[in-house]
Amino acid sequence: MVRDLLTYLRKWLEHNIEHSKKHLEEIKELRKKVEQHGLKSVGAELSASEKFMEKVVKSLEEALKRISETNEGVVTASEEQMLDIEVEVDILEINRRLAEENRSLFDKYGLKVIDVRGAIGSGKTSLIEAIVERIKDKYRVGVIAGDVTTTIDADRIRRHGVESVCVNTGKECHLDALLIRKAISKMNLENLDVLFIENVGNLICPADYPLGAHLHLVVVSVTEGSDMIVKHPLIFRDADVIVINKADLAETMGIDPNKLVNDARRVNPKAKIVVTSVKNNEGIDELIRALGLA
Ligand code: MG
Repeated sequence: MVRDLLTYLRKWLEHNIEHSKKHLEEIKELRKKVEQHGLKSVGAELSASEKFMEKVVKSLEEALKRISETNEGVVTASEEQMLDIEVEVDILEINRRLAEENRSLFDKYGLKVIDVRGAIGSGKTSLIEAIVERIKDKYRVGVIAGDVTTTIDADRIRRHGVESVCVNTGKECHLDALLIRKAISKMNLENLDVLFIENVGNLICPADYPLGAHLHLVVVSVTEGSDMIVKHPLIFRDADVIVINKADLAETMGIDPNKLVNDARRVNPKAKIVVTSVKNNEGIDELIRALGLA
């Protein structure tokens, strides 16, 4: 915005400096002619105009100079784009290193960590709750609930009697390894066997930010339509387990869950694919097996 204004102003100044200089030259020539004809009083007035015009030119040139100085601090569009890329790459690299450190810490405590990814409303929290209910007598479970602003999910999880830490990302569309490090500093890792990390509801950003988890579980529900997997191949390619959730609503939605299963298989032939319905208690045991928690 500011750069647009400066660009406009620079052009305006360059244009007007040129014009003002032309005016100045015209006034000078006229003054000389007037003086040659002995019209002293007119000549004196033109001389005053000349000085005024000189001041105008000088101040316009000064303004242009200031803009150039300002512009030195504002990188040009192409340079800025490159800068963005460099900053982004650095952040991703730092995140990767922190994720490796998180993983070492998890391994040190013999903790199995599952990063649960999926869009808002895909049913991540409900699935975690269903899993937690079934395995909490066998494993000591903890949950990190990532959310943009609320603690709703963490509160829901806590009702199942397991340790839950809420991470609010503010405006970020994903968790990152540093946020996880901060979250686990609030947990007693030696008291846990399994840690679920519910990522922020998003099918794009979390793919770029590994957290150090051992498994990536991606949840997609039939209520999101039939093309979610083909539209977001990166995050599904990065999955160890893919869940097609809310199977109970497939008929109502006019969606064939098998279409999603086939898409998942095509995008990621290695992933385990499970169709679930939390409402009807379908597929939960199979999902627990797929996660190696049976
Ligand atoms: Mg949730």
